[in-house]
Amino acid sequence: MAWSDKSHPHRLLLTKQFPLGLEVLPVFQPVMRAANRIWNSCVWHSRETFRQENRWPTEAELKAKFKSFAAWKELHSQSAQAVVEEYFEAVSAYRKHRENGHLEMNSPGFKPKNHLRTVTWKRQGFDVDGSALVLKLSRGKEPVKVALPEGWNVVVLPDGTEVKGVPVEVKVKAVVRRREVENLVLHVTLDLGVVPVNQVGAVSAYDYNSATFARAVSSGRLDLFVCRELLSLVQYRNKTIAGFQEKMSRLKEGSRRWRRCLSAKIRKLKKLDRRIRQMEHSLTKLFAELDGAEGVAFAVVGDLTDLRRSARTGMKSRKATQKINQMAYDRLRQEQRYKNLVRGVQTDPWTERNTSSTCCLCGARNPAWRRHRGLWVCGECGLVLQADLNGAANLLKQYLFGACRNRALSFTFREVRVWRWDGKLNRFVQVSPRAA
Ligand SMILES: [Zn+2]
Repeated sequence: MAWSDKSHPHRLLLTKQFPLGLEVLPVFQPVMRAANRIWNSCVWHSRETFRQENRWPTEAELKAKFKSFAAWKELHSQSAQAVVEEYFEAVSAYRKHRENGHLEMNSPGFKPKNHLRTVTWKRQGFDVDGSALVLKLSRGKEPVKVALPEGWNVVVLPDGTEVKGVPVEVKVKAVVRRREVENLVLHVTLDLGVVPVNQVGAVSAYDYNSATFARAVSSGRLDLFVCRELLSLVQYRNKTIAGFQEKMSRLKEGSRRWRRCLSAKIRKLKKLDRRIRQMEHSLTKLFAELDGAEGVAFAVVGDLTDLRRSARTGMKSRKATQKINQMAYDRLRQEQRYKNLVRGVQTDPWTERNTSSTCCLCGARNPAWRRHRGLWVCGECGLVLQADLNGAANLLKQYLFGACRNRALSFTFREVRVWRWDGKLNRFVQVSPRAA
């Protein structure tokens, strides 16, 4: 398994990038092409197995099958295995989407013969030699030595401290624009160890929604983040994909017009993705900065594995589910987690059960009190609050006391701060509460 936040949740892992220049292309090209051949073999073999036996082959089956292939012997054995693992992950994601009713998804497909596939070196696949990395190829082949600049393994945390990391995974990626290879980039994932975190402090809770994100802190702070711009970008992205899919379905697959359409789609999506990612980063950075500045020890986020978002909001229709699933909640959470961690704040997922149907002030529960336009109007104590803020406050209560129902709030809330995206400044700024 690859080193990731998922496999090592309490450690800080960061990836640094180093452009290598095109001079090294002749060195890496054969390796990347070999990786591509392994990928295509995976696709071919899996489709054959599915056609003949109506099942997908297992990861071990694929690895055993390709061991004798010439392409396999070009790479370090772990790098070759990594390709199969990536393919397997892609197939699993595809099957999961199909099960969830996304029938428009295509299974992972063949890549063109000259495609430069990203190659991964795992822990045993490389050595550190001073400020150079020695990337191993298959046994008997000369390894590739890559010199890195001074301080390549040092990361500066927001408070100014320098931490030296241990490289745990290395990747070489090709940057391709308009079918031209522009550069090769080395991605080095550094393990910065277990970061010292605040042991004592406030607790903040976050309610992730599509158009608004809410924050409640045990100090009585309430924050509302208006993310309509982000949501509309995500929706526009989905619309763009659907538009291209419609257009391409009328063209012959592989034809010149079809290929032109495909590259236009990729260009357009890359551009949109950059804007979406920038907004997401800005949002999670703001969360982490607020938590860091207010001395928060634990940031609580809803546990998404606990219950489905559609059930939570009471919207059951297919359209509503689509709308809910558009935001990349998982990615946002990953970003918030590491941005928190470098500031000494731990992130803790917690159950969201009943948080949207309970009054945070008096603890009475009634799903009908969540009114239209996202307002919570309590029929018991008369509290009127933005519904997502009510949800965040309940998540905070749930984390602090174990349950949010039948329990009055033990502290009072201050006035709500409202934040929204400023397109000119390219970040979220505080606005007057009336603007929301
Ligand atoms: Zn109430």
